[in-house]
Amino acid sequence: MSEEHISRYDMITVDDLNKLKEFKCDSAPVLSLYLDVTPPERANKKHITKFKRLVREARERMSNASREYLSAFQEEAGRLQRWLEVGYDETGRGLAVFSCSAEGLWEAFRLPAPLRDRLAVDDRPYIRPLVTLADEYERYAVLLIDKKMARMFLVYMGEIAEYSEVIGKDVSRPTTIQQSRPSGRKDRGAKPGTDETYLVQHVKRVISALEEFYPNQECDRLIIGGTDEAISELRNRLPKSLARQLVAEISISLKAHPDEVLRRTLEIEQQIEREVEAGRLSMLLRAAGEGKGGILGLEPTLRAIFQGRVRMLIVEEGYRKPGLECPNCSYLTTAEATHCPACETPLEAIPDVVERAIEAALDQKAQIEVLRGETKAEMAEQGHIGALLRY
Ligand SMILES: [Zn+2]
Repeated sequence: MSEEHISRYDMITVDDLNKLKEFKCDSAPVLSLYLDVTPPERANKKHITKFKRLVREARERMSNASREYLSAFQEEAGRLQRWLEVGYDETGRGLAVFSCSAEGLWEAFRLPAPLRDRLAVDDRPYIRPLVTLADEYERYAVLLIDKKMARMFLVYMGEIAEYSEVIGKDVSRPTTIQQSRPSGRKDRGAKPGTDETYLVQHVKRVISALEEFYPNQECDRLIIGGTDEAISELRNRLPKSLARQLVAEISISLKAHPDEVLRRTLEIEQQIEREVEAGRLSMLLRAAGEGKGGILGLEPTLRAIFQGRVRMLIVEEGYRKPGLECPNCSYLTTAEATHCPACETPLEAIPDVVERAIEAALDQKAQIEVLRGETKAEMAEQGHIGALLRY
C-alpha cells in the first residue's frame, strides 16, 4: 500500500489479521507500533514525543544488529513519524500501525480503545494486542431498507464499511411477482402489480442477501433501519436465526451518510455493552461474595489463570501493573520473589502482568470482559480485576 493512502483507515477484517499473521521479512525490520492516543495523550503532540522515546528505546535494544539493519530501522521509523505528523488525523483512542517498506507492508488501524504504548521490531508483525482487542468487539450488520432500495453495512471496532455489492443493483429494481410465478396459479395473499407485491419480492431478495452476508462477515448482531413499511415487512419475514440476532430497529433515511449510520450504530452498541458489563460485574460480585465460582483482586486472579480455572476474566479498562513472569512455565505474580514457586526458574520483570494475564486467559478460551462504562469505577474499588471460574 502506498503512503498516499495512509490517512485512510480500514476496518480490521479476518483477512487483514491473517495477512499480518503470515507476513514475514528476513532482510528488513518489521515495525509494529501501538499508541494510546486518547485526547490527553494527544495534547501538545504528546503522542509524537512518546513515539520518539519508543524509537530510542527500540534502538537501544538493537545493539547487535548490522549497520544495514539499523539504517533500515531508522528509515522505517522516519516513515512512521512522518505519518504521525501529517498523515494521522488525530482521531480514535488507539492506533496500531504495521510497517515494512522492503516488502510493501503498511497497515494503519484506528482503534476504539487505547492499548499500551509499544514499538516492536522483529521479522514479523506483533499482532497479539490487536488480536486481543479485536476479540472483544462484536460485529454489527446494519441493513437499511425502503420499498425500493437496500443498503448493507458492517460496523466493527468503531469503523464502518458499506457493502453495496451484497445487495446488488437488481435488488433496487425488483421484477414483478407475476413473472416469477408459474402460470395458472393464483396467490390469494398478493395483489399483483401493486406496491405490496414489489415490496414482498424486494424484501425476500434482501433477506437472502443478508443470509449470505451475515455468516460470511462473522456478524454477531443485527440492526435494521429505513422506512416503517419496509422494516415491518422485513421483520415479519426474517428467519428465526436472524431474528434472534436483531437488537434494534432505527428510523433513518436510505440516503443517510455512512457516518450517520455509524453514529446511530455506536449509540446502540454502547447501550448494549453497558448492559452486558453491568450484568457481568454483578454476576462476578455475587459469585465472589458467596465464595463460589468467583474471585476478585490481581493475585488470586493470576493464580486462577495459572491453574487454568478462568471461565471469564473481568477487568477495569486501562488497569496495568508491573510484575514478574516465569520464562519457563508462564507463572505470573506481583509479589516479591526471585524464583518461580512452581518450577524454581529465575523470574523476569515485565512491564505489565495484566496484559499477559489477558493473553493467557484467551489462550485458555476464557471470555474477556473489559469494563469501560460506569462499571469501571466500581471495578476499581473491587480490586480492578476478577474472574468467574470454571470450577
Ligand atoms: Zn515457572
